[in-house]
Amino acid sequence: MTGRNGDPAGPSVRVGHGYDLHRLEPAVPAGAGRPLVLGGLPFESPLGPVAHSDGDALLHAITDALLGALALDDLGTRFPDSDPASAGADSRRFLLDAVAAVRERGWEIGNVDATVICEAPKIAPHRGRLAASIAAVLGCPVDRVNVKGKTHEKLDAIGEGRAIEVHAVCMLCRR
Ligand code: MG
Repeated sequence: MTGRNGDPAGPSVRVGHGYDLHRLEPAVPAGAGRPLVLGGLPFESPLGPVAHSDGDALLHAITDALLGALALDDLGTRFPDSDPASAGADSRRFLLDAVAAVRERGWEIGNVDATVICEAPKIAPHRGRLAASIAAVLGCPVDRVNVKGKTHEKLDAIGEGRAIEVHAVCMLCRR
């Protein structure tokens, strides 16, 4: 796969899509939840993600969007959850790896748009600082990053607060 994105006769833009979901549980010993981290920022929450890494579903979805736009292996393939080196890892490391792949192949981040679906915490009051945190990892202006929140209307596992889901898309532009 490496190199095919560098084809000068190829398109000048590419899109990528990423998706992630983590189960939410209380912290040990009541459950297996880690402290809740979204977009690289800690959140006060009685429940946190069950995950091998820090479980930052927002960064995981964005990482997969970037990797998907490049037609590369996804996050779970590049950093398997069987790898002890990724245990409890700060997911900004995974996103930085994807950003490096973007730039190495001659692309720049046009924009990223992500939707976080959960009952709690409310995302709306934190949209600005989430975008700023993500833009800092992406190395791009903050106005190229958008994060919005939705609930699941109390339906199913997400609506019952037992999971958090994130969808993300990105546009890459040839540098
Ligand atoms: Mg994940």
